[in-house]
Amino acid sequence: MTQTIIDCHVHINGYESLKNLPLKERIESLSNTMQSNNVDQAIILSSYTINEERPSTGQILSATENNEKIKVVAGYSISNHDESSIKEYEEYLKNGKIKGLKIYPGYEHYYPYDPKYQKVIDLCIEYDVPLMIHTGDTYTPKGKVRFAHPINVDDVAVDNPELKIIICHLGNPWFLDCQEIIYKNKNVYADISGLVLGDFTEFYEKYLVGKITDFLNYAGEPKYLLYGTDWPISSMKSYLNFVSKLDLNQQERDLIMFKNSQRLFKL
Ligand SMILES: [Zn+2]
Repeated sequence: MTQTIIDCHVHINGYESLKNLPLKERIESLSNTMQSNNVDQAIILSSYTINEERPSTGQILSATENNEKIKVVAGYSISNHDESSIKEYEEYLKNGKIKGLKIYPGYEHYYPYDPKYQKVIDLCIEYDVPLMIHTGDTYTPKGKVRFAHPINVDDVAVDNPELKIIICHLGNPWFLDCQEIIYKNKNVYADISGLVLGDFTEFYEKYLVGKITDFLNYAGEPKYLLYGTDWPISSMKSYLNFVSKLDLNQQERDLIMFKNSQRLFKL
């Protein structure tokens, strides 16, 4: 039987193996890695900033045009984007070119419920696409994690009941807080990406299987959980091995591995 896998969270910034590669080669590297792991579709999230190592949403869209296996979600930051970015993103949304928007509180020191994000929230509601929110650890010491704590997502969810929200990274390490926000708010989802740098160790894998099992026991049928890796930061192969250790029936597995993403991003 054919198994479908959608990785809803990958990057093509110049991290890890992609460092110093031209954009075209980064996309090729993504396609090759997807193919060797039987991943059918992936969603590239553009960054909160644009520089040599971080291509713009427009550049990514041109580089992946006509590639049915790769979709794009546009990154937005209060500090680095302006009114013209909002207009540009609205155009992409109108034409179905982007599948959602992503904000990065913690990296830019704003709470996700800051009124300055409201324009982005309104766009997501108008075009019925999800808003992805980075939560949890920021890796860089310049990030401030209080802005990235998943508890802050509750305000956004309650004040914008029509908005669909994806908490990225399960709020790692605040899994408990994340599961309460998911349980409480029907409009909030979470992806399991970015829980490891590179490959899982046996110990860490066991630890996370326990955390996700607790999560599912608390929050119920996983209509809200999305498979994602954060590739190239996390290894696709190691991630697939990790999810194979979760005790899920076929229906639950299908929801997490592709059905929730198909429904939410309209793939
Ligand atoms: Zn990421």
